[in-house]
Amino acid sequence: MNIPKMMKAIVKTKEERGAEYLEVLVPEVGPGEVLVKIKSCAVCGTDIHMYQWNAWAAANVKKAYSGLPRIMGHEFSGEVVKVGEGVKKVKVGDRIAAETHVPCGECYLCRTGKQFNCQNVKRFKNGVYAEYALIPEFCAEKIPDNIGYDVAALFEPFSVAVHGASYVRMVGDSVAVIGVGPIGLFSIKMAKTMGATTIFASDISEYHLSLAEKAGANYLLNPKEMDVVKEVRDATDGLGAGVVFETSGNVKAIKQAFELLRKSGSMVMIGLPSEPLVLDASSDIVWKGATIYGVHGRDIFTSWEISKNLLGSGKVEIESLITHRFKFNQFKKALELAEAGKTGKVLLLPE
Ligand SMILES: [Zn+2]
Ligand SMILES: [Zn+2]
Repeated sequence: MNIPKMMKAIVKTKEERGAEYLEVLVPEVGPGEVLVKIKSCAVCGTDIHMYQWNAWAAANVKKAYSGLPRIMGHEFSGEVVKVGEGVKKVKVGDRIAAETHVPCGECYLCRTGKQFNCQNVKRFKNGVYAEYALIPEFCAEKIPDNIGYDVAALFEPFSVAVHGASYVRMVGDSVAVIGVGPIGLFSIKMAKTMGATTIFASDISEYHLSLAEKAGANYLLNPKEMDVVKEVRDATDGLGAGVVFETSGNVKAIKQAFELLRKSGSMVMIGLPSEPLVLDASSDIVWKGATIYGVHGRDIFTSWEISKNLLGSGKVEIESLITHRFKFNQFKKALELAEAGKTGKVLLLPE
């Protein structure tokens, strides 16, 4: 395959709102690295934070990445076009998606089966909103033949919901999903798949709620118009929901999520609040006997194997949650629409 010297990429250049569509060098492939021709990319909440350059981005981008300029994006699928010295996991021509956390493999957590929580976790050297992207061999995951590139680009975020769902028992129980952006929508799909009988979806975006209904939620709750805690309690004989997925990252919503959790219930926390959270620890956690799970990324690679089986077999369908597709040069429109809560999963595609 002929690999050009230059490529188009969406680059975050300055510590302020926005990004640029630029011509940059195609990266050189080193030992243990894989060059991928990008076929489809997805927009993640963190990409929106980075585009906005909000408090979260200012505090985390330097810590997690090597600073700016940086190509944006991490969720993608593509075809392997070149492999570096020593690469065995994939070969040229393979269709892949990728784990986006790069664990060290040597720390206490990595050695005790918790690579997803690696003490020294790293990100890709650079982002993937580009014609080509360079990733470590370790992260490449072949995708089933019957899965198209667009759905393949969703394996990474879908696997976060798979990871969260793996901690809790939902069969025959009530489940509330607080915040039904993409990860919340995927969580609804998992709750349905794992036998939840009543699913509550809460979000301030009517657009998100309409997608939640499509995904299988039974109750659509808009906290702008109703008392969500009361609605959930009323529908559960005053008990509250047995399992709660918190994917909004909004401190007010998180407080409500704890209030509507049933006694001895399980709280799965995925959303990232950018301000400190105030809970009444006595009634929200201690007397409640609540179990709280923090979900950081995917359980590497257990969540991936489960996703491949669920999506590859057709047992779970997520393509209908892709609501918008944009070419790279329309990235501003894509990110701003997602920012406004008027999308499900948004794809960015090379021209
Ligand atoms: Zn992501
Ligand atoms: Zn480690």
